Amino acid sequence: MKIAVVGTGYVGLVTGTCFAEVGIDVTCIDIDQKKIDNLHNGILPIYEPGLEEMVSRNVEKGRLHFSTNLSEAIKGCDVAFIAVGTPPGEDGSADLKYVLAVARGIGENIDEYCVVVTKSTVPVGTAAKVRTELEQALQKRGASVEFDVASNPEFLKEGAAIDDFLKPDRIVVGISSERAEEVMTKLYKPFLLNGHPIIFMDIPSAEMTKYAANSMLATKISFMNDVANLCEIMGADVNMVRRGIGSDARIGTKFIYPGIGYGGSCFPKDVKALIKTAQENGYDMQVLRAVESVNDAQKSVLFDKLSRHFQGELRGLHIAVWGLSFKPKTDDMREAPSLVIIEKLLAAGCTVTAYDPVAMPEAKHSLGDRIAYAKDEFEALIDADALLVVTEWPDFRVPNFGVMARLMKQKAIFDGRNIYEAKELKELGFTYHCIGVKTDH
Ligand code: NAD
Repeated sequence: MKIAVVGTGYVGLVTGTCFAEVGIDVTCIDIDQKKIDNLHNGILPIYEPGLEEMVSRNVEKGRLHFSTNLSEAIKGCDVAFIAVGTPPGEDGSADLKYVLAVARGIGENIDEYCVVVTKSTVPVGTAAKVRTELEQALQKRGASVEFDVASNPEFLKEGAAIDDFLKPDRIVVGISSERAEEVMTKLYKPFLLNGHPIIFMDIPSAEMTKYAANSMLATKISFMNDVANLCEIMGADVNMVRRGIGSDARIGTKFIYPGIGYGGSCFPKDVKALIKTAQENGYDMQVLRAVESVNDAQKSVLFDKLSRHFQGELRGLHIAVWGLSFKPKTDDMREAPSLVIIEKLLAAGCTVTAYDPVAMPEAKHSLGDRIAYAKDEFEALIDADALLVVTEWPDFRVPNFGVMARLMKQKAIFDGRNIYEAKELKELGFTYHCIGVKTDH
């Protein structure tokens, strides 16, 4: 089989590489010439564990190609994936201009039957718009080429993207013809051999499934953050409450960790987009509106704790920040809580030294030299009045607290991810604050 993946970002590059890995001939296309040039030189635009080796292996095997030339790459393809960004527009709705531009480009160039699949996260009704773009483009060139549209939302998690793609919990495909179902079944067959299910459905349901999934996950996070905040007020320990409720199989243990709010390129924008879709159709997603406002507030929780600890006297303090990316094992800084926290620290007159194992180059795009960047987690602590743990990178899990105590000016830790034991730190003379536990000692 031969496929094209248009848009070579997180999703497009992982998708294309994983299909090449199972023997399919893949061309990844992007309009960003520099990105494609870099890929030709083995330089990846993103950090994702294991991806670099997989890309180079498949390029060497001649199964994975990179190009800016859509018209050439699309010729003879069985499937064309659209994997470009769908950022929020000013009103929160998903901006479809990139998706529809690609659809037009495909319509201007296909020469034989092809299934055009939206992998980007797109609102219900987008596949119909993609179909119209294609039809109009074909009409313009007086061509009559058969095609199908399909929706195949992506559920990969940054940081575990390859495993998620190769061993998916499920593959959701929205189709409207048997022919498209056959092509998509053939394409995904290698991933289904170990029992990973493919779920075919109508296209609007597939489009909605992605938003419902991300919104449910965001809801779990905001719910637990709300519970955590109340635990603190009432003198309960959210870590125990989490274990207590997670053992109920109907609730489950996953994704019920309190923290400093969700970020990243997906949850914030997808929650916004679903609220907007509902509004446009006369329905109010009340739960999701609350999810969003709880999350906005939660991003300030760590700063507020710091401010309370120093009785609002933050000017001139030097703060160490561990972790910048919105979650571990990625360099993605989009909507990262660290950005909100650091802006607040700077506005309050603090100086900041940060360390992140991979996200510092990305962070520099928005923070520049307004903060200092350390070469490792310990250097960040030198003369710090407090440490804020923002991202739970494995590197930070079991640090040498003795060394930390010697490096810091004041032994105060604000743990936004609940990775340390309050009792242990108290014994070592640290002041320790975390989320959802009353630990003011
Ligand atoms: P990204 O910004 O990393 O990549 C998008 C790429 O598309 C960029 O490289 C851009 O240059 C390219 N592009 C834009 N217009 C183009 C055009 N006309 N032709 C060719 N290339 C073009 O985005 P991403 O994170 O990969 O997300 C893509 C989509 O997948 C979004 O809808 C997102 O919501 C969804 N998604 C993302 C994730 C994730 O974890 N990042 C997970 C699931 C779904």
